[in-house]
Amino acid sequence: MKYSELLVKTRRDKSKDIESINADLLTRASFVDQVMAGVYTYLPLGLRVLTKIENIIRDEMNKAGGQELLMPALHPAENWKKTGRWETEDNLFRFTSYYSKNELALGPTHEEIVMPLMKKFINSYRDLPKYVYQIQDKFRDEKRAKGGLLRGREFIMKDLYSFHADEADLDRYYEVMKQSYVNIYNRAGIGDKTYITFASGGSFSKFSHEYQTESLSGEDTIFLCEKCRVAINKEVLEFQKNCPECGNEKLREVKAIEVGNIFKNMTKYTEPFEVKYTDEGGKERLVLTGCYGIGLGRLMGAIVEVSHDERGIVWPLSVAPFAVTLTHLGSGKSYEVAEKVYEELTASGIEVIWDDRDESVGAKLADCDLMGNPLRVLISEKTLAEDSAELKLRTEDKTEMVKLAGLTKSVEKVLANVK
Ligand code: ATP
Ligand code: MG
Repeated sequence: MKYSELLVKTRRDKSKDIESINADLLTRASFVDQVMAGVYTYLPLGLRVLTKIENIIRDEMNKAGGQELLMPALHPAENWKKTGRWETEDNLFRFTSYYSKNELALGPTHEEIVMPLMKKFINSYRDLPKYVYQIQDKFRDEKRAKGGLLRGREFIMKDLYSFHADEADLDRYYEVMKQSYVNIYNRAGIGDKTYITFASGGSFSKFSHEYQTESLSGEDTIFLCEKCRVAINKEVLEFQKNCPECGNEKLREVKAIEVGNIFKNMTKYTEPFEVKYTDEGGKERLVLTGCYGIGLGRLMGAIVEVSHDERGIVWPLSVAPFAVTLTHLGSGKSYEVAEKVYEELTASGIEVIWDDRDESVGAKLADCDLMGNPLRVLISEKTLAEDSAELKLRTEDKTEMVKLAGLTKSVEKVLANVK
C-alpha cells in the first residue's frame, strides 16, 4: 500500500478533548474516527488491525471446536421478557417499530437468541455438547461511554455459548476456553500483562473469570498474586482475600482493563426457554450452558494503552496494520530505489506501506512512529552511498545498515525475530 493512496490524515498535535490515550493515538494516526460518544468508524488502518485480532480469535475458537454462526442484532422484545431482562437491563436499547408497533431491542448479548435457537437442535444426550459462537456488533446504552475503544455503545464482541449434559462436561470445556483465552492474549501481544481474575459469578456459581490487563487507564481494581499470575477483582474481595491458588496474602493492587469474561450460566437461560434433553435413561433434563465473551475493540484499545510511547503506537507484529514502513528521504534516486524495494517486499508477501509522499524528513519519521509498524526501512542518499538501506525496529533506538542486494532476506530475518 502506498501512503499517498491511503485514507489517512495524521495529526501530530494532541487532540484538545482527549478522553483517553487510545482514543487520542488511534484518532491522530487515522485508525478510527469518532461519530459520537462511544461510537466509532474503523478507518482502513484500524480495520486492518481489527481484522487481525478477529482472525486470531476466530482461529482459537475454531481450534476449541466452536462453530461460527451469525445472529441478528435486532431482537424481539418477547425473548427479553421471557428472561425478565426487558424490565431490568439498564443498558438495553429498546424501541418500537413505526409500522408494526412491535417492541424491539438491539442486542447487548445473545442468550435471548441463542437459547431458542439451540432448543431446535438439542433433543437427546447424543446432541451434546455443542459450541457456537459469533463475532458481531453489540449495543449497550452505557452510562459512561468514555475511554475510546474501551467502552463503546456499539462495539464488536466475540461471544461463544457452550451447551452441556452435565456439570462435569461444562467444567471440562470451561478449562478449554480458559486456555483459548490465554492463547488469544499471548498472540495479541498483551499476554505478559494479562491476568486471569476471580470475579463475581452471580447467583449460579461462586466466581466467574475475567481476563484483566494491567493498565493505569483501566476502570477495574484487581489484587494480583505475582507468583501465580492470578488476580482477584475488588468486587469479590470480601469473599476471597488471598490468592486462590497458593494462599498468598501479599497481593499487589493495580488498575486493569477487563479484556474478557467467561461465565458458567448453568441453567439460568435454558430454564426460561426450556432447553432440555433426554438422558440415557429417558429422563428429561435441563441443558447446562457457559458463555464466553471478548470485546475486539476493547482488546485493540487495550493493546494501545499498554504498548505506546511519547511518539505513538507500538504495535505487536501479529496485529500491526503493516509489518514494515518503507520511507525514502529526498527525491530522485531515493524514490526510484524505494519504489523497487516496495515492489520486491510486496512480491515476497511482506505487508509494507511505502511513504511515497514528498514531505519533510521530520514529518515522515514522525508519522512512521505514530502509525507504529514494527520495522522501518529507510532509504536516503546516505544509505545509497553504501548501497544499503537502514533498518530500525519501532521498539529500539539503534539502527542497522543492510545491503540492498538481499534486502528482502534481511527484512524477513528481522521480522522472524520480532514479537
Ligand atoms: P464491563 O464490566 O466492562 O461493563 P461486562 O462485564 O458487562 O463489561 P460482558 O457482558 O462480560 O462485559 O462482555 C464480554 C466482553 O465484552 C468484556 O469482557 C469486554 O471485553 C467486552 N465489552 C463489554 N462491554 C463493552 C463495551 N461497552 N465496549 C467495548 N467492549 C465491551
Ligand atoms: Mg464483566
